[in-house]
This record gives sequence, C-alpha cells and structure tokens, in this order.
Amino acid sequence: MRIGHGYDAHRFEGGRPLVLGGVHVPHDRGLAAHSDGDAVIHALCDALLGAAAMGDIGAYFPDTDAAFRNIDSRLLLRRVLELLQQRGWRVGNVDITIIAQAPRLAKFIPDMRKTLAGDLQTGIDNVSIKATTTERMGFTGREEGLAAHAVALLVSAG
Ligand code: MG
Repeated sequence: MRIGHGYDAHRFEGGRPLVLGGVHVPHDRGLAAHSDGDAVIHALCDALLGAAAMGDIGAYFPDTDAAFRNIDSRLLLRRVLELLQQRGWRVGNVDITIIAQAPRLAKFIPDMRKTLAGDLQTGIDNVSIKATTTERMGFTGREEGLAAHAVALLVSAG
C-alpha cells in the first residue's frame, strides 16, 4: 500500500461556473484557473500521483498547454487513474476536505462522492468528502477563494 497527500487552492472569479468534485455548484463566482478550476479534483490527482511518487498534475497537464484550457478536470482524473493502473495500482480509498466559507456544500457532497467514485472505478464507500469553513479566518474565510486537501491510499492491483 502507498499513501499520498494533495493540496490545491484557487481564487474565486466572476463569470465562471463553480465546479467542485466534478459537480456544478450554484454560486455567484467560479474558480479562476487554466482548467475548469476544480480544486477538489486537482488535490485528489496530486494525492493519487503523490502516493505513487509520480510527481504532480502540473507535470502531466501543464497550464501553458492550450489543450487543457477550461478542460473538465474529470478528464484529468481519469487520465491519472490510467497512469496508475499502468503501474499496477488501484485506489484503496480517498479522503478529501474542502475548505470554503461559501457556498455551503453539504447537499452536493453525495453527488461529488458518486461522481469521483465512478471516475476512480471504486465504490462510493471508498470516497470520503467533507467540507469545513475557517470561521471567517484567512483567505478562505474572506471568500477570496477555496482550498482542498486530499489523502489517497493506493493498493497493489496484482
Ligand atoms: Mg488547481
């Protein structure tokens, strides 16, 4: 077994949809990024790659490459899973914490878990997602952006 950790943060920006964990979340702003800005999936990808000591998503999907402009981050996640499978890994379980003052995310979490479990080819019981505020402290508390932490366990598929 191998364990990995990932972290990502993005600034809120008007005129963009907010996509978290592959799910569209109604909000007055989205996340600024070269991709769709899904910080949850980005943190998850980094945790998965980290567990295999395979670097980070920036190495595979550089933000200087126009091919990844506004790309659906679920495509990146599925590609990361393929890379791991090629090296003989499958996902054991993942645990994600989203840090956001707003919007409230609780009601969207079941859909995020289902979406990510599908992309990871694992059961929903292997995908945990939690959300917290920071009691209005820091950049997330001021609603300048949001952040996500992820931990992933990989298991040898052989
Ligand atoms: Mg990112």
